[in-house]
Amino acid sequence: MEHTVVVRAPGRVNLIGEHTDYNAGLCLPVAIAASTTATATVLPAGPSRLTSAQQDQTWEGTASDAAPGLVSGWAAYAAGVLWALEQAGYAVPPLELHVDSTVPLGSGLSSSAALEAAVAVAAVTAAGLTLDDTLRRSLIAVCRQAETEVAGAPTGGLDQSAILLARPGRALLLDFADGSAVHVPVDVRAAGLEVLVVDTRVSHALTDGGYGSRRAQCEQAAGLLGLTTLREATLADAATLADEVLGRRATHVVSEIVRVEQAVEALRAGDWDRVGGLFTASHVSLRDDFEVSCAELDLVVDTALEAGALGARMTGGGFGGSAIALVPATRAEAVRRAVDTAFARAGLAAPGHLDGTPSAGAGPVDPVTPSR
Ligand code: ADP
Ligand code: MG
Repeated sequence: MEHTVVVRAPGRVNLIGEHTDYNAGLCLPVAIAASTTATATVLPAGPSRLTSAQQDQTWEGTASDAAPGLVSGWAAYAAGVLWALEQAGYAVPPLELHVDSTVPLGSGLSSSAALEAAVAVAAVTAAGLTLDDTLRRSLIAVCRQAETEVAGAPTGGLDQSAILLARPGRALLLDFADGSAVHVPVDVRAAGLEVLVVDTRVSHALTDGGYGSRRAQCEQAAGLLGLTTLREATLADAATLADEVLGRRATHVVSEIVRVEQAVEALRAGDWDRVGGLFTASHVSLRDDFEVSCAELDLVVDTALEAGALGARMTGGGFGGSAIALVPATRAEAVRRAVDTAFARAGLAAPGHLDGTPSAGAGPVDPVTPSR
């Protein structure tokens, strides 16, 4: 029978814990309100057809047509999921699938993983499966495989985990040493606060070498300390590194992991001033020790703090992308305006503003309905 499913998959922001995933560390992402919607209709036969409101190119083919090396552009992320689902043993029927998104593309809010999760959840729902916790976890691996092997963008799984496991009013404490994911209450609204997300519209490029060199430096620092990863290092260890740059890189990672633990404690205690202070400390560490910020991100953070934010930081890999600010709801509009004014004064294009309120993870929007 022909039927249609509609699925929503959110973007995400990382509250704290940056460049820690590949160091077997901790991070604390939340899903945001901006999301990607996939509408999928099961076809009686033939190839699948994928279209996007954000892209001109239509992709048509079977799962095996989307094996690594065969697809490029946006379809690598979407069709790549169909291929990875087949690899994982899921029987997905041919689909007419259309996506539309309010997550800005390439802004560090993970439009890529939102796209993957929307396609994955739409496909398994169309196949008649129920999206329980076990299925969510296996879709994390499927989406990650599509992005890494078909789209060719190495990803540590932070984005896919955040998007598939998120719950409203919760952040997700991810531990990359043991793969655990724990929900932590982040009831900003009840505290009279908002998480503002500012898209600098400076495109972040993970391919320009900055990301790869940071990863290599972290591995080198761990190796010099005789450790497998920097997760096992202390600040005292980092201070023994003779190479000044490696010392600062390690200091960031070690201190950032501690800040995630402290942020979780502060959230559980409802100590929002402390949460804000940790956000700002994270930014300073990323700016000065890890050196992955940029002028536009620093401008958002400095301006938000001056305009009354409890804390602010760049979020994501850096070199552009987005920043977050924790602000009293009564100051939210003033902070947004101050950032706009600062960007205009600096001769920069107007930044984008999004709501960072912790939202639901990927899932079907409507019950499966028979088409007419
Ligand atoms: P980010 O995940 O931070 O937004 P990426 O570079 O990882 O940035 O992923 C962006 C890419 O994902 C886009 O260039 C495009 O290929 C694909 N993509 C994301 N969302 C969509 C969408 N709604 N429609 C089509 N392609 C999309
Ligand atoms: Mg991405």
